Amino acid sequence: MNPLAVYVHIPFCPSKCGYCDFNSYAMQGEIVERTARAIIREIRESPWAGRPAKTIFFGGGTPTFIPAPLLVEVLNAVTDTHPPLPNAEITTEANPGTVDASKLETLRAGGFNRVSLGAQSFDDGDLVRLGRVHRAGEIERAVRAAHEASFDNLNLDLMFGLPDQSRAAWRANLARAISLEPEHLSLYCLTIEPNTPFYKLHLRGELPLPDDEQQVAFYEDCLERAAAAGYEAYEISNFAQPGRECRHNLCYWRAEEYAGYGPGAVGAVRDPALGVRVRTTNLKHPERYACAIEAGGPAAYESEPLDSATLQTERVMLGLRLAEGIEVDGLDEGALSRLARRGWIERDTGRVRLTRAGRLFCNDAVVELI
Ligand code: SF4
Repeated sequence: MNPLAVYVHIPFCPSKCGYCDFNSYAMQGEIVERTARAIIREIRESPWAGRPAKTIFFGGGTPTFIPAPLLVEVLNAVTDTHPPLPNAEITTEANPGTVDASKLETLRAGGFNRVSLGAQSFDDGDLVRLGRVHRAGEIERAVRAAHEASFDNLNLDLMFGLPDQSRAAWRANLARAISLEPEHLSLYCLTIEPNTPFYKLHLRGELPLPDDEQQVAFYEDCLERAAAAGYEAYEISNFAQPGRECRHNLCYWRAEEYAGYGPGAVGAVRDPALGVRVRTTNLKHPERYACAIEAGGPAAYESEPLDSATLQTERVMLGLRLAEGIEVDGLDEGALSRLARRGWIERDTGRVRLTRAGRLFCNDAVVELI
């Protein structure tokens, strides 16, 4: 059977950050364990059981908000259902404020081999403003604890374009992250999403954000400083030491199959009966999700067969973000010529990829191509 990527969504956080529009809930009490048990049941009753896992990724929310032994139980359900390929990458996201050495040791012994820390900033003022529960000192402690627990594959997430952030402050953040020598860096610009407290502040003019020109300068810093420290910009926002690219996220960007478990999780797996890939989206709220599973019903509220036009659109949208680019086959020659004239793309051996200048206009390039 063909291997696939497996994603597990743990939808709980200690509190809700002001900019967050992820499917996450600041809930406590019996719903946490109940949801984890429902996720285990969903996995064990999976229609895709038996297909090996090439990667496994626990995201959220904050997976490490739930007790480590329970997280390992969920992982055991995944590995029983989807036997991992040798050396499969098995990641958990973690908030630096929710892990210590003993928790990380339990996770490492339980089978996780990669940890992705949501650091976001090394400035306590930024962290307070973002609504994060951790402080800068905890990031360094978490990195040390991860190394002590024998994790040798570690990602740090950082955000730039924060309210009132200066270029010097961003450069200091980058330098501090690089000094910790993580194998991988995810560097994203803060985006203001509707229905978040930050959105309301933004509408009231109370969120002093850097302008477009400053954001481009911050991104140029990412490219330069990461490259100087030996990280390859293998995706627009992701930088890795050689061979340490996130293999799970590469599956998404390469539009490969993935199974999704947990509240709000999305999957895209080929249905052998229909002969096409089907996108499934699970019930989002933990209570509704757990009730559905406990009643023996499906976790998914939406199931959509993906036609070839949709798959082609996704191949362009996701694949163009990668430094390796995408195959030229099926792309409009006129659009490719226009993008080449603007200096946004380059072509060779049947592939097309964004240039450094083109990385700043990825969305426009995608619109042109689809
Ligand atoms: S930790 Fe992440 S998922 Fe949780 S509220 Fe903050 S941004 Fe959202």
